[in-house]
Amino acid sequence: MWTGFTFVGYFTPIKELAASVISFSLGPWELFWVLFYGFATYGNAGWMREQVCKYMCPYARFQSAMFDRDTLIVTYDAARGEGRGSRPRSDIPAAYHAKGLGDCIDCGLCVQVCPTGIDIRNGLQYECISCSACIDVCDGVMDKMHYPRGLIRNSTQNGISQKLSRSAMFRRVLRPRVLIYTAVLGAVSLGLLGSLLTRASFKVDVVRDRGVMARMVGQGQIENVYRLQIMNATEHSQQYEIRAHGIDGARMVSDAAVVVDAANSRWVPVRVQAPPNAATAGSHPIEFVITTSTDEVTEKAVFLVPR
Ligand code: SF4
Ligand code: SF4
Repeated sequence: MWTGFTFVGYFTPIKELAASVISFSLGPWELFWVLFYGFATYGNAGWMREQVCKYMCPYARFQSAMFDRDTLIVTYDAARGEGRGSRPRSDIPAAYHAKGLGDCIDCGLCVQVCPTGIDIRNGLQYECISCSACIDVCDGVMDKMHYPRGLIRNSTQNGISQKLSRSAMFRRVLRPRVLIYTAVLGAVSLGLLGSLLTRASFKVDVVRDRGVMARMVGQGQIENVYRLQIMNATEHSQQYEIRAHGIDGARMVSDAAVVVDAANSRWVPVRVQAPPNAATAGSHPIEFVITTSTDEVTEKAVFLVPR
């Protein structure tokens, strides 16, 4: 429910949402989405669990496209571990090697702890989420058997097959694939940062009043009515100045200055009047310019002149 509440809070002022929850006065859509995301979270984390990792999460598919043989992964050292099988704890390596056994005692704990239910001894599988639970449990088994740790460890496919040292594996980090991915990630991060730094502190939507197309008012003036939704994206209340232009002599006859509370939005009815002969019959483009002390947003609209 908390997930649902915080998610809906991205789209509606969260303080009012909290007040509505406390007073049991949530709107029908708010209630629906809070319940929807609450139960979706419960279903994913409580019931579907590893099925989400295996079949729904795009991370595994993404990973396989980026992998190569020098990618750091959770790996089972098959050359050291095979053939697997049980043996007395007292067996020294020479004794169990003579029986054709490696270091894996086939206890199966690495499979039991795996949240996606795979056997890492079968090699690299897309279901692996690199949680390292199998590394920890296998190291515990190795400790009990007095074998060296690291039968399952973080390594690379080349590292395992070519028995590379840690430093040799790290020297392969600076390869073209990694440099290109780093450059792409850096460019995306810079783009995101730039868009955050240059974004306007508010947004405006202009909607024509559906009930009033265009009408004649006093002295033959032609009046159109609009509704402006001003969304304040800052953490403090702001004053907005609204101007309309695009038709000679057109002027706003409603309040030009409005205040919107922090992180809130407000619908503002706006009436624009133009002189009788300012424009021919039909629709004419106009613009609303909304300014604060720091930002300016321009929104397009149409002004209708009746026949
Ligand atoms: S936990 Fe280690 S010893 Fe046990 S089965 Fe897995 S790899 Fe073999
Ligand atoms: S790292 Fe985690 S997901 Fe991957 S095989 Fe080991 S326990 Fe399973």
